[in-house]
Amino acid sequence: MDRTPTAALLRDRKISEEVAKPMTVYIWDMDETLILLKSLLDGTYAGAFNGLKDRRKGIEIGKLWENHILQVCDDHFYYEEIEDYNEPFLDALSEYDDGRDLSKYNFNDGFGFPYDDWNKRKLAYRHRSIAEKYSQGLCKILDQQTVKLWNDLYSLTDSYTDGWLSSGHALLEQTLGKTSLPSNYLLSSDPTTRSVTSKYQNINVLVTSGSLIPSLAKCLLYRLDDVIAANNVYSSWEVGKLRCFSWIKERFGGPNVRFCVIGDGTEECEAAQAMRWPFIKIDLRPSSPCRFPGLTMKVVQSYTDVMYGSPDVEVEETEEF
Ligand SMILES: [Mg+2]
Repeated sequence: MDRTPTAALLRDRKISEEVAKPMTVYIWDMDETLILLKSLLDGTYAGAFNGLKDRRKGIEIGKLWENHILQVCDDHFYYEEIEDYNEPFLDALSEYDDGRDLSKYNFNDGFGFPYDDWNKRKLAYRHRSIAEKYSQGLCKILDQQTVKLWNDLYSLTDSYTDGWLSSGHALLEQTLGKTSLPSNYLLSSDPTTRSVTSKYQNINVLVTSGSLIPSLAKCLLYRLDDVIAANNVYSSWEVGKLRCFSWIKERFGGPNVRFCVIGDGTEECEAAQAMRWPFIKIDLRPSSPCRFPGLTMKVVQSYTDVMYGSPDVEVEETEEF
């Protein structure tokens, strides 16, 4: 596949080069970092509490999440058709997209084998449709009963995990420089209310070893869509995390740009080391400061300062001359 930077990537790079103020690109892992799923299902999360957490309840919660994720994928993200055609990010096929209006497009268009240019165009249409749905949010596409079940499950999970999800979300807001959500956020289907706009100084990017479409469904269900844009979600499933990190550097890199990787796995740790980027290892154990709740901007900044130096110190040193 051609991985030549697209016009959008070149534009992003130009913007980042023009930014005078330092910008940080935070690269997040998803599973067992921003969200909990596998560790609920296999009991690892509960196990870290030495019997203080109900393991069976964690497994039940995990199974409910799996059902919601599959339902969003199958009912709204064309997953049964496209699951064998994983791409590393939604814009990967944009060169095949002729930009036609999809509002009346019939998606019963025979997408499938062979994976030629025409079918790549059909997949690009699906990717654009998924990006539009992502920007509108789940309240726009789910029925009221499902929205209620989903909200209840989020609250139940957040309660069971002492606020892992909500405190993770709060830190993502802080990395952007965002302080609070509009009060009507959850009920809003207005893309301008919900979008992760370019007005923020910093950027959150997600790189997950899961496949792309379920990862986007997870972002929506775990309410990360207002702090991570659809086109900033990368699947390293086939290409590996180091390759994704290289694309991210190519896309956002510039003289004033810092990177910081946060995850629980060895692959993102080794890829961050190869890129010479700071890495924060998430640890499920309740005694760890690098978990949720617990991880703060102060801790995150201490990691970036070790690698890049403190911006304040640099300013003071410059003023002395
Ligand atoms: Mg992980």
